[in-house]
Amino acid sequence: MKTALITGGAGFLGSHLCELLVDKRRVICVDNFFTGRKENVDLLLKHPNFKLIEHDIIDPLWIDEPVHEVYNLACPASPVHYQFNAIRTIKANVLGIINMLGLAKKHGARILQASTSETYGDPLEHPQTESYRGNVNPIGIRACYDEGKRCAETLMFDYHRAHQVDICVVRIFNTYGPRMSAQDGRVVSNFITQAVKGEDITLYGDGEQTRSFCYVSDLIDVIVKAMDAKLTGPVNIGNPVEYTIRQLAEMVIRLSGSNSKLVFQDLPEDDPTRRKPDITQAREVLGWEPVVPVEEGIRKTIDYFKFI
Ligand code: NAD
Ligand code: UDP
Repeated sequence: MKTALITGGAGFLGSHLCELLVDKRRVICVDNFFTGRKENVDLLLKHPNFKLIEHDIIDPLWIDEPVHEVYNLACPASPVHYQFNAIRTIKANVLGIINMLGLAKKHGARILQASTSETYGDPLEHPQTESYRGNVNPIGIRACYDEGKRCAETLMFDYHRAHQVDICVVRIFNTYGPRMSAQDGRVVSNFITQAVKGEDITLYGDGEQTRSFCYVSDLIDVIVKAMDAKLTGPVNIGNPVEYTIRQLAEMVIRLSGSNSKLVFQDLPEDDPTRRKPDITQAREVLGWEPVVPVEEGIRKTIDYFKFI
C-alpha cells in the first residue's frame, strides 16, 4: 500500500482528502491546527491506516517510513486567517514548500501543491486560463497569500527542473461544503451562518463582484485524479458556474428559508472583481468536471451548519 502524506490534513479540504484516501493508502496527516481542528479527523484516529502528526511545515519534517505521495495543503485559506499573521503565511507557503519538496526529493515521492485562483490576482482576462499570468498587487494585504502561492509554484517547477521531482500544481477556485469553519470568514460560511441565525447578511462592496463555487466532493475527486495522472500542471480546478456575491446571498436566503436582510459593508482592499475558471484542461486531460450543482451543494452545506 502506498503512503500519502497530507499537510493541512485537519483543515476543511484536507480532512475530506484524508477520508477519501484512508481505505486505499496509508495516510499521514500533518497539521499545526492553526485553522484546522482535531474534530475534523477524529473519526479517522482509530483507522489502522491513519496517523496524525502535529507539526508546522515552516520547520523541516523527517519521516522514517517510505512516502510515495505528498499533498501540500497546509496554509490558511481565508483572507481573515491568512492576513492575521501575514509573515507566517508567506513562511508557510515558501519555507513550507521548500521543506515538502525536500521531503519529496528524499523519498522519490510525487508532490501536489494546492495552489489557488488567487495567483491570477484581480484578473484582466476572463475566464481565467492557465496561461494567463495574473494581475497581483505584490505589496497589498493579499500578497502574503497570492505571492506566497506564486513563489511556491515557482519552487515546484525549479525542483522539477533541477532535481527531477515529480510535481503537480493544481489551482483551486473557491470551494465550499461541510466542515468549513463557521469562524472562517469566507463568504459561503459567513452567509449560511448568518442566514441560519436570522442575522444580517454582510455584502462587501456592492455585491456585484463574482466568484465560481465548487462543492467539496467534486474538488477532492479531481485532486486525487491529478495526483494519479502524469501531469505537472498548473491545472485549474473549480466549478465554472459564475455568481455575483449578491446572487449567492439571495440563493442562501431562499434555500434556508431565512428572514435575514442584506447589509452592505466596505469592500476589502484588492478584492478581486471577477473570477471564473476555464476548466478545459481538467476536462480534457483529467476527464473531470464538477457534478454537484451549486444549489444542491449549498443545500447540503446549509444542513451541515444547521446541526453543528
Ligand atoms: P483550511 O484553513 O481549512 O485548512 C488549512 C489547513 O492547514 C489547516 O488545517 C491548518 O491548521 C493547516 N496549516 C496552516 N498552516 C500550517 C503550517 N504552517 N503547518 C502545518 N499546517 C498548517 O483551508 P482549506 O480551505 O482546507 O484550504 C486547503 C488548501 O487549499 C490551502 O493551501 C489553500 O490555500 C488551498 N485553497 C483552498 C481554496 C478553498 O476555496 N477552500 C481555494 C484555493 C486554494
Ligand atoms: N464577501 C462578502 N461578505 C462576507 C464575506 C465575503 O461579501 O461576509 C465577499 C468578499 O469580499 C469577496 C467574496 O465574497 O468578494 C469571496 O470572499 P471569500 O473570502 O470567500 O473568498 P476570496 O475573496 O478569497 O475569493
